[in-house]
Amino acid sequence: MKPLIGTSFKMNLTSTELTRYIEVLRPLIEPLTACDMFMLPPFTAIWAARECLRGSRVVWGAQDVHHEAYGAHTGDISAPMLAELGCTFVEVGHSERRRDHGETDAAIALKVKAVLEHGMTPILCVGEPTKGATASAVEYVTRQVYGGLKGIPGYQRAQVVIAYEPVWAIGVGSTAADPQHVETMHAAIHDLLDGAKPRVIYGGSVDVTTAAPLLGQEHVDGLFVGRSALDPVAFAAIARIAR
Ligand code: PEP
Repeated sequence: MKPLIGTSFKMNLTSTELTRYIEVLRPLIEPLTACDMFMLPPFTAIWAARECLRGSRVVWGAQDVHHEAYGAHTGDISAPMLAELGCTFVEVGHSERRRDHGETDAAIALKVKAVLEHGMTPILCVGEPTKGATASAVEYVTRQVYGGLKGIPGYQRAQVVIAYEPVWAIGVGSTAADPQHVETMHAAIHDLLDGAKPRVIYGGSVDVTTAAPLLGQEHVDGLFVGRSALDPVAFAAIARIAR
């Protein structure tokens, strides 16, 4: 399977800004056939991704979803709404949503189920909150993986992408986790889901320098890029490394 290289723009880029971003990105990534790529704009710009990425190698998706299909949930967006916009991926359980919106593993599992039911691929984010012993990190992440996949049958687990994103490695002022730590964590996640074989990608301060050593690890199936990918040239450069 090709490495999966993706980004979430978080709360950045209006639809006009995203249109300009894609104009710069497209010619740069068109020759890069050795990886699969995705981008997750804010809800308000998904339509622009659909319009501007048509016919390109990059698929698009969303950063969150409500677990119900419709109803009295002011401000929320449902899986059928995202499916109709051509979304391939839907991120669930990012640490910022767990922190800012109190999302629990149980709530996240309902979202994973909703995404699968509507024919899209959930990207389930997991990661330990603080830097420490790898054994405790494995224990923490194991709970999140089992919790986030609760009720999802084995055959559907293969369709989920797991994003290992240690919280301490995310955001301004942080640095990417050591590739050896990442490899141990990814191998452990693969072991947990033995048989299902989902893709396990790494996120947390990935940039053009850290991408190669991280991708060089046996159990790293791709990269989830945050702020570095706000520059389309840097995002393309990271994708170029994934050969
Ligand atoms: C993230 O928050 O998922 C992320 C990968 O962010 P950054 O690359 O900016 O650390």
